[in-house]
Amino acid sequence: NFRCRSAFKLLEIDDKFRLLQPGFNVVDCGAAPGAWSQVAVQRVNSAGTDPALPRGTVVGIDLLYIPPLDGAHFLSSQDVTDPSTHAKLLELLPNRQAHVMLSDMAPNASGFRDMDHEKLITMCLSLIDLAEKVLQPQGSLLCKYWDGILTRRLQEKLSSVFGGVRTLKPQASRKDSAERYFLATMYRKPMK
Ligand code: SAM
Repeated sequence: NFRCRSAFKLLEIDDKFRLLQPGFNVVDCGAAPGAWSQVAVQRVNSAGTDPALPRGTVVGIDLLYIPPLDGAHFLSSQDVTDPSTHAKLLELLPNRQAHVMLSDMAPNASGFRDMDHEKLITMCLSLIDLAEKVLQPQGSLLCKYWDGILTRRLQEKLSSVFGGVRTLKPQASRKDSAERYFLATMYRKPMK
């Protein structure tokens, strides 16, 4: 039983692209109430359900409270864009590195489509800064956005640090919504 229908979007994407593999370390940004984390826990075996497979790690972060889940560490009441959250996250990740970053984050919708779009794109751009701190080379980022005028800018930024960037619209996502996902793979850590 999943905490929220959004689980089906991640299941659909993961069935197709096999992002989440046993033993992987995953960061779930905007994790409340925890349905994506439930999927991630199953797929990376972070609860150790299959002792024959490597055991991964799942760390979820949200501004809201995330009810406990076996196999996941949660940073509740934390802002993903805040550097103090990044420090806590690094401590929870083995080798201070993640194989995969997931983001289903969304701001509280104001109802003004352009404004909501711009807010969410800004949040997605901040994930690129977070990737620089936690994502391992060749790692992947899956992030939700609402389509609009700044989509291209986000896509270009992602393409500058990831080898592959795809736009996804899962079947489980309402057809009439502007919701889309970018799946960015083959991360190249920028040189300092
Ligand atoms: N993927 C989740 C699941 O399957 O249970 C649902 C996520 S919900 C669509 C979006 C979440 O993003 C909300 O819980 C919201 O609190 C969170 N959020 C928005 N801005 C955030 C931020 N700056 N830092 C952390 N979480 C944020």
